[in-house]
Amino acid sequence: MLPESEINRVLVVTAHPDDADFGAAGSVALFADRGVEVTYLLVTDGDAGGNERTLDNSGMAELRRTEQLAAAKAVGVTDVRFLGYSDGQVVPSLELRRAIARVIRQVRPDLVITHHPDRNYQFIAPSHPDHRAVGGATLDAVYPDARNPYAFPELIKEEGLEAWTVREVWLNGGSTPNHWVDITESMDRKLAALQSHVSQVAHVEGFTDFVRSRFAAWAEQAGLGEGRYAEGFQVVPTA
Ligand SMILES: [Zn+2]
Repeated sequence: MLPESEINRVLVVTAHPDDADFGAAGSVALFADRGVEVTYLLVTDGDAGGNERTLDNSGMAELRRTEQLAAAKAVGVTDVRFLGYSDGQVVPSLELRRAIARVIRQVRPDLVITHHPDRNYQFIAPSHPDHRAVGGATLDAVYPDARNPYAFPELIKEEGLEAWTVREVWLNGGSTPNHWVDITESMDRKLAALQSHVSQVAHVEGFTDFVRSRFAAWAEQAGLGEGRYAEGFQVVPTA
């Protein structure tokens, strides 16, 4: 694994508003505490989400962008970018790979955090089709697109974005996590980030207890003991 001292920039690529907060906000808060620059890239605006559902969901995209900006701020992230794809319709297209490769070359991250592209057969919730599409397109953007100057050559010719090699990727939501981050210290900030998504969580009874018990269970699985919280990732070396 990359030593902490070599992680100076992190890019978190997710499908929807709140994905980064469920999956990684505790770890992100700890990165931010150490002065690591963290960028969020959201592929959709989450315009198919929400509780007060009417068939006219206009306004949802803007609301969810605003909520995501607040959630990011709660864990020290101010660079939040949106690609504006339609919620529920994401496929790992060449166009999406280019869009993600562009941001990788702009941000030049040491570490990328994204969704696991494989379906989790033990627990289906993390395997939303948008998540798998974004995870797959992001891994393709990391290898080979962002590092290969001949992939999407217009990124160099028209935008001056030189090739960049991401050295490590952490995948969220898979069935085989192999790296646990103790987020006990940042758990309250993770909860604040999640609660910023008012349109998604305000109506959920017992939401805080649910979140605490989920991440406490992972801490126990990780062997951190009782009263601790953890986020889990599958680490993929990509240097
Ligand atoms: Zn999602």
